[in-house]
Amino acid sequence: MTTKAAHKITLVPGDGIGPEVTAAVVSILETAGKSEGVTFDWHTYDAGADAFAKTGEYIPKALYDSIEQNRVALKGPVTTPIGGGFSSINVTLRKKFDLYSNFRPVKSLPGLVTKYPGIDMVIFRENTEDLYIGLEVMINPDIAQSLKIITRKGSTRIAKSAFDFARKLGRKKVHAIHKANIMKLSDGLFIKCCKEVAAEYPEITYAEHIVDNTCMQLVMNPYQYDVILTENLYGDILSDLCSGLIGGLGLVPGANLGAECAIFEAVHGSAPDIAGQDKANPTALLQSAVLMLHHIDEPVVAEKVQKALEAVYAEGKTLTRDVGGTSGTKAFADAVIAAL
Ligand code: ATP
Ligand code: MG
Repeated sequence: MTTKAAHKITLVPGDGIGPEVTAAVVSILETAGKSEGVTFDWHTYDAGADAFAKTGEYIPKALYDSIEQNRVALKGPVTTPIGGGFSSINVTLRKKFDLYSNFRPVKSLPGLVTKYPGIDMVIFRENTEDLYIGLEVMINPDIAQSLKIITRKGSTRIAKSAFDFARKLGRKKVHAIHKANIMKLSDGLFIKCCKEVAAEYPEITYAEHIVDNTCMQLVMNPYQYDVILTENLYGDILSDLCSGLIGGLGLVPGANLGAECAIFEAVHGSAPDIAGQDKANPTALLQSAVLMLHHIDEPVVAEKVQKALEAVYAEGKTLTRDVGGTSGTKAFADAVIAAL
């Protein structure tokens, strides 16, 4: 066994349950890497309220520089301060590094009893435009306006990500999700771009579903979906819905991908209701780390971690409360480490 150079990775533990799930994931990755000669050099930074208290900035410049240099980050959830002049920290990072593609695989874990066994779908959420750009004004004290921006460039590149993924992984269907019957111009442009891209992938079935109908369809028969391609806001809502199909927000990972950098983070937020109580499920961040391991070309370690995680679910003895168990975050992480 030869030891390779350590992977330099920017680590943002975040706040709320962030530090707990991050500590669990780091310990699992270090153990998994060790026997394969793979090591990590974590460059750790605060973001959000903690960072503001220390540096006077919600996102310290040193964090930006670190992501720019390392080109890969693993990030826990960060609470967005409500009110005040600062927009979401997550959204700011995605915009700053032009991480236009938010990739969220939704796959059932073995042994977990849910209403929908054997789910395996993928969401591609546009990550840089739509109502998420946060362009809002008060027209007068009684009228607020939010601007929804959809561009040809943004729509075409997210559609390409979804179709490239489908082609590479042999997925059969892509559904573009929209509300173009009401937002004829913005969502109209989005599906126009999706349709144009679809024409370049004749082997993949392309369909368009309206977002409200999609919510009903997902609950009635989620198996009809394979790859979901959608705008930013619908993607946010559909991701939480889809996480519910497989057992909740504690499970679903995510990758924010751009041309230069990638930030891996769970779909869930900082869950202040259970923070600091050793109750959080680290699975979502751990599966995000598995996506990261593939991204940095460590498929052996990635598979090892995923197998150990699945073994713990299949056994079903050491699960966290959100999925019906009684174990804490640390005990769950120890079980995964033991299964490695
Ligand atoms: P955001 O606006 O940042 O997306 P949110 O409003 O969607 O946040 P979350 O923080 O994701 O909310 O939490 C929603 C619910 O899911 C909470 O009850 C929380 O406890 C639960 N939850 C979220 N993540 C986890 C986790 N990793 N383990 C267990 N429960 C979780
Ligand atoms: Mg949410």
